[in-house]
Amino acid sequence: MITVRSLLDDAWYDRYLKICNLNIRSSIYDVTNACNLRCKGCFFFSSDEHLTGEEKDTAAWEAFVDAEKARGVNLAILIGGEPTLFLDRVEAFYRRLPSFCATNGLIKVPRDRFPDMMVGISLWGDGETERSLRGKDTFAVSSKNYAGDPDTYYLYTLTAQQLGRIEHMVRRIRDIGVKVHFQLLSNDEGADGFSWSPEQLRDVRSEMDDLLDRYPDTVISSRYYHEVLTTGTMLGRRFGWMECPSVSETHDFRNPQPRRLIRFRRWAADLKTTHRCCTSATRDCDTCKDGAAHMSWVMVNKRAHIRTARDLQNWIEVYEMFAKLYRFIPW
Ligand code: SF4
Ligand code: SF4
Repeated sequence: MITVRSLLDDAWYDRYLKICNLNIRSSIYDVTNACNLRCKGCFFFSSDEHLTGEEKDTAAWEAFVDAEKARGVNLAILIGGEPTLFLDRVEAFYRRLPSFCATNGLIKVPRDRFPDMMVGISLWGDGETERSLRGKDTFAVSSKNYAGDPDTYYLYTLTAQQLGRIEHMVRRIRDIGVKVHFQLLSNDEGADGFSWSPEQLRDVRSEMDDLLDRYPDTVISSRYYHEVLTTGTMLGRRFGWMECPSVSETHDFRNPQPRRLIRFRRWAADLKTTHRCCTSATRDCDTCKDGAAHMSWVMVNKRAHIRTARDLQNWIEVYEMFAKLYRFIPW
């Protein structure tokens, strides 16, 4: 019988043991419907998910987080809108649960108040691409706010326009002493020239692989993640609605049920509404390039990877990547 132990040598088995019992139960929270940017292709605004109301009372947020903790959540992923516009709400999570804050980096998370909260800064390219898609070169500001911060990484959303130019930003990130993780733009608002062709997906995969090899201390990623994300396939299966692990349990009536994130919900800022999934409710699942959903897809399908040593090592590398990005294991 093929077992985990039979597939791994001692070094890989040791790595496996460090992650196999983490038992991560994440959910995602829109901290606010407001943002200090309006990026072209933002899934949140393009799907009108910002039109729910917004709970304003901090005590209500605190009670809500207590209830989420009782529901079994052990990782709160805070998004928006821009969470740093409402730090009292962020604090309601931070004081109760391991929390991760996604931000555009324009406002610095005060480290005296949130000393070790992991911060993920969105980045969409070099200054030119950022100005064209986001109206501002955010790196110019965020790099000053977060230089040298050990609990920060850039979540670099790659676009076809970045092909051949990604290294420039990876170097700049390395030079300020911060990490970087890649994902791909899904182009929810159909911005001209920002959709992926099959050739561009092949090229971006090889560019990501190359950068991972050459900047191993800066790039937090794995070759298998690049493969799954760019091909949309895993072990011969195709990513899409019937496979996606990141659907809110309140919206999940699929039959048969795929393997999924246990108890996962994405909550709106009114603290009553749940959105369909971790990203845009109006996105076509067949073209979804959400990095976290693809990463989770691998993670929830451990059993399918207990097949060959390489398959299981691929699974371990993706799980380690997730665990690093959310502070469950060190960089
Ligand atoms: S900073 Fe984030 S939430 Fe705000 S508009 Fe841009 S992508 Fe959307
Ligand atoms: S849009 Fe993406 S993350 Fe959302 S349900 Fe579809 S495949 Fe999953």
